[in-house]
Amino acid sequence: MRITCIRVFRADLPMKEGSYSWSTQSHAAFDTTVVLVETNQGITGVGECCPLGPTYLPAYAQGVRAGISQLAPKLIGEDPTQIECINDTMDALLKGHPYVKSAIDMACWDILGKVSGLPLYTLLGGLRQEKVTLYKVVTRADPGAMADRIPEYRAQGYRQFQVKVGEDPATDIIRIHRVAQAMEANEVLNADANTGWKQHEALQVANAIADLATQTGIRLTFEQPCLSYEECLAVRAHTDLPFVLDECIDSLAALLRANQDHAMDMINLKISRFGGLTRARQARDLCVSLGLPMNVEDSWGGEITTAAIAHLAHSTPPAFQFQSSAFHEYATIEIATGAPTVHEGTMTASDAPGLGVEPILEALEPVNEYR
Ligand code: MG
Repeated sequence: MRITCIRVFRADLPMKEGSYSWSTQSHAAFDTTVVLVETNQGITGVGECCPLGPTYLPAYAQGVRAGISQLAPKLIGEDPTQIECINDTMDALLKGHPYVKSAIDMACWDILGKVSGLPLYTLLGGLRQEKVTLYKVVTRADPGAMADRIPEYRAQGYRQFQVKVGEDPATDIIRIHRVAQAMEANEVLNADANTGWKQHEALQVANAIADLATQTGIRLTFEQPCLSYEECLAVRAHTDLPFVLDECIDSLAALLRANQDHAMDMINLKISRFGGLTRARQARDLCVSLGLPMNVEDSWGGEITTAAIAHLAHSTPPAFQFQSSAFHEYATIEIATGAPTVHEGTMTASDAPGLGVEPILEALEPVNEYR
């Protein structure tokens, strides 16, 4: 099998709730890139990469497309089912920039699934859980408005909430307390600062919420308080809150170092940050071997990214998949059919071959074509 054409599209994903705010950032829509990899056997694979705006991770939407312009012409004629070989070739053509490679890698997995007639969760390790536990993001807003979202999201079936903080620490303390008051015992409050605090601010918040889980019976976690690994490690040394690292876990080396340092209890595994499903699966399997549970997800995306997340999460042992995100639930537009179905705070991927999604070309703007 040979790649004959790589087509690149883009779309804006506008937020249902008007905007999405985290740390000190806020956006009304996210620019996503969709890649179609066509083959000489009539099978086409699809992949997606959506950085969460240009100022969140070292990744941006135009960068995805600029990077693909370096890779795509030289992938024509390659066999997309030899996925490690495709990754070797991409690494030889472009040093670093893992997020650029993610959509192409994802599309090659989709092709492999279609060729073998198997859903991706089978190829990624097997159906280790029938349903994938989701969290719902509580976007940063006034404390009362954030708390008001909880009964609404609970009515949709959610029991795990990722509460966006990382702005002003005094207000963040009120946000976390107000949301906790709206929650029921055993529900998850994942206070995610997305790197937004300085070290002293993170300690101020950690100290102010130290007894909240005991007082309320909720399950409280504290996620990526500061920008650098070293700052997070210093905060971790001074709190007993279950600790999640996200943004600074960007490679296997970073993961191994953090595990050696006992720097976290869980990680947030984002597919595109590792460079696609191939490398994310490697990190996932390492986490399972190390005994580290994960949030299995990506930076952002529509139906295609969510399908990739769902397949990776389905093939992760349930004790190690703490929560995932169904990003297509947050957007006003649909860019593919066949997305994972969301029900009662869980999602289930299609059991069709590959990712099980079909792009809606009318919803996508063509950007480039490489033959
Ligand atoms: Mg996070």
